[in-house]
Amino acid sequence: MADNRSRLTWKGLFRDVDNTVNFYSTRDEVVANGDGRWKWPLAGWKFSTYYIKTDVVGHLQGEVVYGPRRYTSAETFASHAPHVVRNYDTICAMRPEDRIFVAGHRGMVGSACVRALKAAGFNNIVTRTHAELDLMDQRAVREFYEAEKPDVAIIAAARVGGIGANSAANSRFLYENELIALNTVWGAAEAGVKRLLFLGSTCIYPRMAPQPIPESALLTSELEKTNEGYALAKISGLKLCEFLRRERGLVYHSLMPTNLYGPGDNYDIEHGHVLPTMIRKFETARTGNEQKVTLWGSGSPLREFLHVDDLASACLFLLQMENPPDLVNVGSGREVTIRQLAEMVKGATGCRAFIEWDRTKPDGTPRKLCDTRLIRSLGWSPKIDLASGLRRTVDEYRAELAAGRLRV
Ligand code: GDP
Repeated sequence: MADNRSRLTWKGLFRDVDNTVNFYSTRDEVVANGDGRWKWPLAGWKFSTYYIKTDVVGHLQGEVVYGPRRYTSAETFASHAPHVVRNYDTICAMRPEDRIFVAGHRGMVGSACVRALKAAGFNNIVTRTHAELDLMDQRAVREFYEAEKPDVAIIAAARVGGIGANSAANSRFLYENELIALNTVWGAAEAGVKRLLFLGSTCIYPRMAPQPIPESALLTSELEKTNEGYALAKISGLKLCEFLRRERGLVYHSLMPTNLYGPGDNYDIEHGHVLPTMIRKFETARTGNEQKVTLWGSGSPLREFLHVDDLASACLFLLQMENPPDLVNVGSGREVTIRQLAEMVKGATGCRAFIEWDRTKPDGTPRKLCDTRLIRSLGWSPKIDLASGLRRTVDEYRAELAAGRLRV
């Protein structure tokens, strides 16, 4: 036990490159290297000096001086002082005093993360509007990280859109999202951000992935064509996190949410996702006394929906874990057909119009349900069911519309 844990833990700290030892600190200071004798700089760590001889990544051999004792290998050290070995991971878990950068804080996901962080007592939050910081500008992102020195970054910024927007502009979805992902993740690593959560989407999985889709389905076959550009960019981002974690021991990890909805959603009829678009279409028909609402495709595809506040709670949950998995699906685990969803939205708005299905519009992937066993096994589960989440969202839609705040 101690052996495995110590290896896992130490792996994050040391790496052997051509027989030299590099120390990747969880903060931005690289203390020293070369002579194998370094001062330990981190507050909260009890031992002050350690001496190291190392062979390969994760197999530390050396001497650790901890208080009055001297241990001759990481394994021995771990077995004598497991609480200290755990300290490394604890340092990487998000703490209330941490400075937290939320990229994309004006979007539905980013704003939900900010709300959840504040509610949980994480008040040291850094944000930038698009006008203040263009995340596609590599130099600007680097300078931002250097100036602000966040401890944690949540990457919720992206160009997003529904099936219409994606299929019409795969090139732009690829280009912009790729730049945002690479700049924000690589920039964080270079600036010594100790912890990063990258948000993707379940549409990164292959079109014909087994259902429910397990995390292991990633890159096993062809992507869905309608959102291939977006998916490729997100896959790059999550792979970059995975590589940095493996190579530098940075706890950068990713989360794949299913279809989301909630306050601050984009209600654009042509470019929005199905659920907010349906709310707008049914509300417009109700208030305008229209007889007919036209929806897209056949109505038969299956989709899963998660309220964005549930997603934000999952983000906080994973960020506070000491050793989260590289990639975790977050979903409600429940699916409905688009036709059932239409009836639910129609009911929640109180609209009486007749539904017409425009079969010239694409259906997209036939089914998209994510396998949520992993995150549930870690101890997280969603709290907001679709019916009550829909009622809330319709109320918020009306409030956003009345206040002139509706994103369209
Ligand atoms: P997807 O989940 O990536 O395929 O993207 P969407 O959320 O845009 O679409 C989900 C499903 O809803 C697809 O099968 C669409 O054909 C269907 N759909 C039905 N009506 C609409 C609509 O008015 N807008 C959108 N975006 N999708 C609709």
